[in-house]
Amino acid sequence: MYRIALASRPTGAPETANFSYEEAPMPSPGPGEVLVRVHYMSLDPYMRGRMDDAKSYAAPVPIGGTMEAGGVGEVIASNDPAFAPGDFAFGMFGWATHGVQPARMLRKIDPSAMPITTALGVLGMPGFTGWFGLMEHGKPKPGETLVVAAATGPVGSMVGQVARLAGLRTVGIAGGADKCRIATETFSFDACLDHRAFDTAADLRRALAAECPDGIDIYFENVGGKVLEAVLPLMNNFGRIPVCGMISWYNAGGLGAGASEPGLSAPALWRSILVKFLSVNGFIISNHFDRYPDFLSEVAPRVASGEIRYLEDVAEGLENAPAAFMAMLRGGNTGKQIVKLI
Ligand code: NDP
Repeated sequence: MYRIALASRPTGAPETANFSYEEAPMPSPGPGEVLVRVHYMSLDPYMRGRMDDAKSYAAPVPIGGTMEAGGVGEVIASNDPAFAPGDFAFGMFGWATHGVQPARMLRKIDPSAMPITTALGVLGMPGFTGWFGLMEHGKPKPGETLVVAAATGPVGSMVGQVARLAGLRTVGIAGGADKCRIATETFSFDACLDHRAFDTAADLRRALAAECPDGIDIYFENVGGKVLEAVLPLMNNFGRIPVCGMISWYNAGGLGAGASEPGLSAPALWRSILVKFLSVNGFIISNHFDRYPDFLSEVAPRVASGEIRYLEDVAEGLENAPAAFMAMLRGGNTGKQIVKLI
């Protein structure tokens, strides 16, 4: 088998030298464990955080350790009655061609129901994140206006589509004209703005104000930085901000250079929350998987019928995972970033 290990910790944006592609001995399953040959693995923004030696909600990957990832693949050996060779399963196998996991940590996937890649994106952790954050903390109401950035990614596209189906006006923010066209044409956003086309938060804010004539009721926070600074003054009283991610700062270390911009100073941010009665809720989706069956029963039929759409960006080969990951952090992906391993 092959795996990709963390060779060194990045300073700023990750580089090729931070990863090492290695051959490793084939693991064998112990009692209650299952060996899976991974067909597709997921690349997600959270993996950038795992590369830092910083205190967070999850432990960092140790130097020399296999990079973390979810994957879907075929069971090739099982020491648990719940799985048999030939079954398909989702599990945290890491950046690796094969993985062993306790059976209780695996989720069985029916390859005849939907393409197995959907277990990594639209019907997996990212899609669930968008749905949960919107329903639990966004509390959408018909007629309201929602803004979300990274609008064509698996989180943002789920947020936008579920909000639109709930009767909201949806305004996406994405990187580049092509992604904005995809946001409106494929994901039915009412409008989409290209954040790269605006030099300053003030410019982006003017354009957003024109697209949000009744103000913003829900800002689903994926990116922080310039977008957050543009959005905050447009929030309506009693607005909601589910805080899901802040990818524009992931490579910056700490809270990032953007945090010192005047519009985002702690007093300015705090004052907005106070005087506009905002609800700001951070959440980490791994704490909420008790709601995953609700998500699947509501959303899976809508994905199967085509009412909720999804896009996948598939890189080929484990050895190309670092390049695909580094590109994703810069917006190089269009849709859910996946790596095909066989
Ligand atoms: P995406 O597939 O959307 O990929 C990340 C996207 O972020 C890029 O494609 C790019 O889109 C955008 N981006 C990168 N840099 C910037 C920047 N400086 N300013 C604005 N946008 C930028 O990712 P996901 O849908 O998987 O994740 C979206 C967010 O949700 C992330 O912040 C992630 O960490 C978070 N998340 C949080 C979870 C939780 O439990 N709280 C769980 C899962 C995800 P574009 O080119 O359009 O700008």
